[in-house]
Amino acid sequence: MTSKQVKPLSGAVRTSAGAVRPLAGVRITGGLLHHWQRRNGTATIPHTIEQLRAAGNVANLSRLLEQDPAPYRGRYPFLDTDLYKTLEGLAYELGDGRAGKPVREFFEEVVGLLERVQAGDGYLNSFFQDPAAAKKPWEDLAWGHELYNLGHLIQAAVAAARRMGDERLLRVAERFADLVVQRFADEGVCGHPEVEMALVELYRETGLRAYLDLAAAFVDRRGSGQLKHSIFAGDYFQDHVPFRELPSVTGHAVRMAYLAAGAADVFLETGDRSLFEALERLWDDMVATKLYVTGGLGSRHSDEAIGDRYELPSERAYSETCAAIAVMQWAWRMFLATGGAKYLDVFERVLYNAYAVGLSADGRAFFYDNPLQRRPDHEQRSGAESGGEPLRRAWFTCPCCPPNIVRWMAQLADYVAAERDGALLVAAYTGARVEGTELGLVMESAYPWDGDVRITVERAPDGPYGLVLRVPGWARGAAVTVNGEPHAAQARDGWLSVERRWAAGDEVRLTLPMPVRAHGSHPYLDATRGAASLARGPLVYCVEQQDSPDAAVDDLMIGVPEIVNANTGRRDDAVVLTVTATAAPPPSAELYPELPLEQALPETTVTATFVPYFLWGNRGPEAMRVWVRTPYATHGKKAK
Ligand SMILES: [Zn+2]
Repeated sequence: MTSKQVKPLSGAVRTSAGAVRPLAGVRITGGLLHHWQRRNGTATIPHTIEQLRAAGNVANLSRLLEQDPAPYRGRYPFLDTDLYKTLEGLAYELGDGRAGKPVREFFEEVVGLLERVQAGDGYLNSFFQDPAAAKKPWEDLAWGHELYNLGHLIQAAVAAARRMGDERLLRVAERFADLVVQRFADEGVCGHPEVEMALVELYRETGLRAYLDLAAAFVDRRGSGQLKHSIFAGDYFQDHVPFRELPSVTGHAVRMAYLAAGAADVFLETGDRSLFEALERLWDDMVATKLYVTGGLGSRHSDEAIGDRYELPSERAYSETCAAIAVMQWAWRMFLATGGAKYLDVFERVLYNAYAVGLSADGRAFFYDNPLQRRPDHEQRSGAESGGEPLRRAWFTCPCCPPNIVRWMAQLADYVAAERDGALLVAAYTGARVEGTELGLVMESAYPWDGDVRITVERAPDGPYGLVLRVPGWARGAAVTVNGEPHAAQARDGWLSVERRWAAGDEVRLTLPMPVRAHGSHPYLDATRGAASLARGPLVYCVEQQDSPDAAVDDLMIGVPEIVNANTGRRDDAVVLTVTATAAPPPSAELYPELPLEQALPETTVTATFVPYFLWGNRGPEAMRVWVRTPYATHGKKAK
């Protein structure tokens, strides 16, 4: 099979409104992201394939070829999406030459099944195609997830077409999409947004306007009374008011962020300013009031909902792994729309914290919800899944997160760089080979463990060309040299631009100092008042009881000077932070003691070591905290 010209996912084949175009010609070659991608290929993908087979996801399709099909396996009607998300990841693995024979065989088997199982009219869903199914197709749009299914099918199909040059799945997806274009020409909308992003991508791939129009209609139809709500009220489905009138990100967190990402895609192709204004307002409000310090979204286990402004409890953080991916998808599209570096700051915060924590260090176990605190007596009995495992689990009854992790790990290279006319923008730092524009680069970096980046030009255009480097919001004193000479330009709006006539062999060095930082929180955020969190570069840190031998983590008190003067050390490859702390005296046993007029400050000095939050929970279930008590004021100064 010959590989056709690669177009980037979330790409802008016909973008009219975007400030920046994505770049498909990037390969990750080193650093932490490379380690993650290798682990995806060697551990997470084989594990996922094994679990999908064991859970019946493949059998759910193959049984439909039998005369008398066995019953559907699994509790939910959207289990085909776990195959689709995996196929999407495998398309990258196969297209980039990272995958071996078992992966190819699984890909072939599932694609072959999908081709054979698809109904004559294009319909495809292994739950509803069963004549014995409890519901009929399109009977329950709120909970049927049929368009959500189509969305993930399209995304897998587009990835296979672009990355592998294999259009078999695209033909399947188009047949189903064409049925949906007819069926939903005038009304109807899915209870779980997702298909919006996918339809725009299908438009980009095929050029067929009907797909874009339907995506736009699905955004516009929300809040118009077309969805019959059950179990939960309209806000759960982002269907209580029209999208442009949403006062804040609301309802089910994954639904909300997928919907916003889809609306951003519609804007990128249509240039509809009213949509963008709503997106910008919702984004800014979310970042200012509703994101965890890890970038996690969603604070309520009940309804898997986002919660009120400043309602961000640490130990009950829901912060679903899928929501982390959805926020990154939204962030990337806002970046494409504006070129704004602030969106990439959030993308990066989510990537290295709320997303990465969802996977175990060995790549074979997953968190569904991602709390920022674990109590010493915590028992894992609640949440969306109650399997009883004390930490990450091998799989779930609702396994939306694991294959979502797989596909995202596989496609990380799509989020390293972007281009605009006459310039290449570096959005993320890692070892990488960047091609696909006039300026070809090799990038070397141990980011996020340090902030030194070396970029060597391999291929240069004839005329002047810009190399625009992202300077993260946390960075102070970023410096650039070109061929050893200091470059005078200062960072502006999160970007540092070097424009010149390049030659092969030119070397650019970027230095992003990474001191340890202490962060507080807004005074309305009651859950973390009086507490500080530690960060270095893009990484949020936490302390586990194993690393605080002389004091319970709940008794640790740390001042801001002690945080910023933390000693950095290494544990395996990771940078860990050792901090001098005081241990508060044992507290009163009373839950609500009357306060004395004066209180003695604690004096017992101890040390504790903080590890990157994404690495917590790999050594056994002990107490953990992101936020630790501090005697310092924990809210910032009022903005002028
Ligand atoms: Zn999930």
